[in-house]
Amino acid sequence: MTVVFQDVVDPLVRYRPSGAPVLSLYVPIPYEPGELKGVEARFTDLLKSVREQLDSEELDHDARESLRSDIKRIADEVAPEAGRYKGRGVAVFACHEANFFEQVVLPRPVRDRAVVDATPYVRPLLAVLDESHRYCVVVVDREHAWIYEFFMDQLEESEKAHGRALRDPNYAGGWQGWKEDTTHHKAQLLARRHYREAAARVDEVMRRTGAELLIVGGHPETVAEFLPFLPHQLQPKVAGTFTVDPATMSPGQIRQRADEVASAFERREEEQLVAETFERLASGGFAAAGLQWCLLAVNEHAVQLLLVHDDEQVPGRVSDRCGWLGLDEEDCPVCGEPTRRTADVIDEMATAVIDTGGRVEQVYADTELDRHVVAARLRFPVPDPRS
Ligand SMILES: [Zn+2]
Repeated sequence: MTVVFQDVVDPLVRYRPSGAPVLSLYVPIPYEPGELKGVEARFTDLLKSVREQLDSEELDHDARESLRSDIKRIADEVAPEAGRYKGRGVAVFACHEANFFEQVVLPRPVRDRAVVDATPYVRPLLAVLDESHRYCVVVVDREHAWIYEFFMDQLEESEKAHGRALRDPNYAGGWQGWKEDTTHHKAQLLARRHYREAAARVDEVMRRTGAELLIVGGHPETVAEFLPFLPHQLQPKVAGTFTVDPATMSPGQIRQRADEVASAFERREEEQLVAETFERLASGGFAAAGLQWCLLAVNEHAVQLLLVHDDEQVPGRVSDRCGWLGLDEEDCPVCGEPTRRTADVIDEMATAVIDTGGRVEQVYADTELDRHVVAARLRFPVPDPRS
C-alpha cells in the first residue's frame, strides 16, 4: 500500500469515467490492538451495503459484474491485511472494468463509507491531505523527554532524551526531617536543567524536520512546568497539550492523544478560514457562498479555496465532455451533450477545484458554513446568480 501524497491523489482527481462504476471504500483501523478484531467485520458490513446496490436499475449487466469483482477483490485482498495499519485509515478505489485499483493508507482513521459513482469519491482523502501539518510531539516527565516526529502516516520516536539521574524528591528515607528541604531544592534545580535541555532538543528536532507545530504531553503539572522553558520562537507553535502517564504510555496512546490535539487545532483553523471568507463576502470582496453560486464559480475556474461543510452530500449533474457541473440540467448548457448523474456534486466540485490549482478545506467545526454548505474564496469576482 502507498502512503497518501499528491502523486496518489492526482490519478484519483484526474480519473475520467469509463462507463463502469467506481467503488470507493473508507475504513478506519482502531489504535489499540484489542479493538482490531472488528476490522474485517467493518469491511464485511460495508461491502454488504454495496452488494445491496447491485440490484439497482441504474446498473447494466457489465457494470454489475465489474462491481461484483471489486467487492470480491477487496474482501479477499484488502480486508485481511488492513489490521496492520493501526490508528490509520484504509481507502480503496476500484473499477474492475477500467482495470483501476488503488489502495491508500491514510494518516488517521476516517469515518466508514462506501460510495458507488462514476468517479472515485475523494473528499475524505482531500480532507486528510489538507490536515497534513507536520507535528513534533514531546512527552516530558521530571527526568526524561521523549521526542516524536509526527507527519501523515507516521509517528516515529525521534529521540529519547534522558535527563540527569534525579533522586525522587519524596525518597527522603532516614534523612527526612533535616535534609528534606535541600533534597527538594536540588530536585528542582535538576528538573529545571532537564527541562532546559529537553526544550533545546525539541528546538533542534523541529528545525531539522521542518515541523510546523508542537504538541506537549505528560502529567499536567510537568507539562505546565516545562512549557516556559521552550525557546521564545517555539511558544506560538504549541498547538496544544495532552495528559499521559509516561510510566505506562504506549506509542498507540501517544498517537491517539496527539491526533486529538491536532484535530482540535485543525477545527480552530477551519473556524478562522470560514470567518475570513464570510468577512470577505460581507465586504463585497472576491468570495461566494451557497451551492448555486459556488457551482458557477467552480465552472468559471475562479475558486482559490473551497470550504465544504462536514460530509454533506448533494446529488447533481456533470458534463463529462466539458466539465460543467450543475444540479438538475439533463443537457449541458455549455456543450449541449447529455449530462450524467452524480451521487455527490460537491465531490465533483472538489476535484475540479484541485484540478484547476485551487485548494479544498473540509470544515468539521460548527460554523456559519452549516447554513450554506459551501463557500469559496475567489481569484476574480463571480456575480451571485440569484441576485
Ligand atoms: Zn458540457
